Order: sequence, then C-alpha cells, then structure tokens
Amino acid sequence: MNCEFFFSFFSLLHSGGFSLVHHLLKKYNIKGGTFDQHFLVDTGYLDRIVAAAELKSEDVVLEIGAGIGNLTERLSRKAKKVIANELDPALVNILHDRFDSAGNVEIIAGDALKVNFPEFDKVVSNLPYSISSEITFKLLRHKFKLGILMYQYEFAVRMVSSPDCKDYSRLTVDTYYFADASILMRVPKGAFQPAPEVDSAVVKLVPRPAPFEVRDEAFFMKFVAAVFSQRRKKLRNAILNTNYMLKIPGIKEVIDRLPEELMNKRAENLTPKQLAELANLIFDFNQKK
Ligand code: SAM
Repeated sequence: MNCEFFFSFFSLLHSGGFSLVHHLLKKYNIKGGTFDQHFLVDTGYLDRIVAAAELKSEDVVLEIGAGIGNLTERLSRKAKKVIANELDPALVNILHDRFDSAGNVEIIAGDALKVNFPEFDKVVSNLPYSISSEITFKLLRHKFKLGILMYQYEFAVRMVSSPDCKDYSRLTVDTYYFADASILMRVPKGAFQPAPEVDSAVVKLVPRPAPFEVRDEAFFMKFVAAVFSQRRKKLRNAILNTNYMLKIPGIKEVIDRLPEELMNKRAENLTPKQLAELANLIFDFNQKK
C-alpha cells in the first residue's frame, strides 16, 4: 500500500493576492497568535477552499473559528446562509461589524466545543488546530453532506493514512468509521499571518455510514483506542495490557478463542474492517458469558 501523498505542484506554488485580508488585520489592529489565530491571508487559497465546497444557493454552511471573516465573506456570497462561530470576543465584534447588514450570516459566539450547532449542510473552516480532533468528532456526530476543513499537515496525513503505514492510527480508523477523507491541497505556512510553525492541509470529508458492521459503537471506539495505545505490541499482548480500558472479565480465555493469526498481528496491520470484526467477536463473547 502506498503511504505517501503526491500533490500537484500547484498546491505549493499557487499564491493569490494578499491585500484585502492584510488591510482588515491592520484596520482592526489584529495581531493573532493567541487562540490558534493564524489568519489565511492568501486569497488564492481562500478561493480554492470555497471552490472545493461546491456551494449551492440553498446551502447552509457552518464555519468554526471565523476570525475576521475572510472566509465567511466568500462563503456568504455563495451560500444561502453562513453560521459563523468564533471564540474570541474581539473577533466576534468584528464579525458583527462586518456582517450584521449582510442578512445571511448568523454569528455564534463561544467555544465551538461547547456551543450547540444548528442544522447545516456543509462545514467549511480553517480550524483552530488545538481542538482538531475533538471538533472533528463533534462535527461528525451531526448530519451533513460535506466538510472542507483545514488542519495541520501532519494531522491531515494521519486522518487519511492506510494500514502498515507509520501514520496509520486511531485517528485514521475513527475518521474512516464516519467518513471518506482525502487531502485536497497542502497549504504552506507562508499563506497565513502570523505564520504557524508547520504547513497545513485542506481535507475533504464526506460523511457516510461505516462500510462494515459494528456491534457496539462505544466498545469499538474503546477497542481501537486501546489497541493503538500499544501499536507496536502484538494484538494478544496489546489487548491483555489494555484490559483496564476494555474491562472484559476473563480476558485471557477470550483471547484464546480469537483467531491465532490475528492475535500475532499488530493493530497497525489491520484494516478498519478487520479491527471492527475483532471488536465484534470480543463484544459477543463478553455478552454470551
Ligand atoms: N477563519 C479565519 C481564517 O481562515 O483566517 C481564522 C482561522 S484561525 C486558524 C482559527 C480561529 O478559531 C481564530 O479566529 C480563533 O480565535 C478561533 N478559535 C480558537 N479556538 C476556538 C474555539 N474553541 N471555538 C471557536 N473558535 C475558536
């Protein structure tokens, strides 16, 4: 399986105009840096993100961390409505200043992890990186058609990895359980102000039912977390060592009844479907006791 990702040179070379977003940062005297504030100032990338969302005039779009509204403005031109969430009260004021007269931008102030999101069709965001994992799985509990989301590059690579690759992880399996994920473009740090320390990537998420059966979702999630916390250990030992998480009585007996061939593999060698089949077997043995 190929573990590398190849992007067109255009991803790295493409660069748009810088003037309007710079002007807004100057006008409102916004320096960034706190609250994961790295503003996408390269208008070429902003346009490509909006194009990737394939917005229709009936779409309701959620944006997390709307900042000064550089993406919000572009989204509001094409969508029926934009729900713009932002944590920083100073930026919330700027969003009201810029969009209260627009008529199709609803501003939700507060922590994206705590506020309730109204229904939405698409989510398009340059996410605050420190909440990448939590916010992604909060979003994936909602029903929506498409996500176009910016993450740190390394995080994005872990989301879309494959078995037997070094980046294949709990994040890969959990993401695959909820959605098809692919990297659309790599975005260099220089496209932001202030520049983050690492490059970013835009990920396309298309939610769908899991393409395999999971008997008990909570147990499957716990199982994946447990075995990937011991990813270098063979599954037999990984399961034994993490039974404080799984809480299966008589775990040794259960393992003895599982396919020997699988027990000699590591979590990183199994596809999401194989991991689900194993979790189902353990769950069923436990139920039958
Ligand atoms: N949307 C702007 C852009 O594309 O340039 C800003 C993106 S910046 C990477 C992340 C934004 O998320 C910042 O405006 C920051 O204040 C906001 N933010 C940080 N933590 C947040 C949270 N927990 N909930 C909502 N917004 C948050």
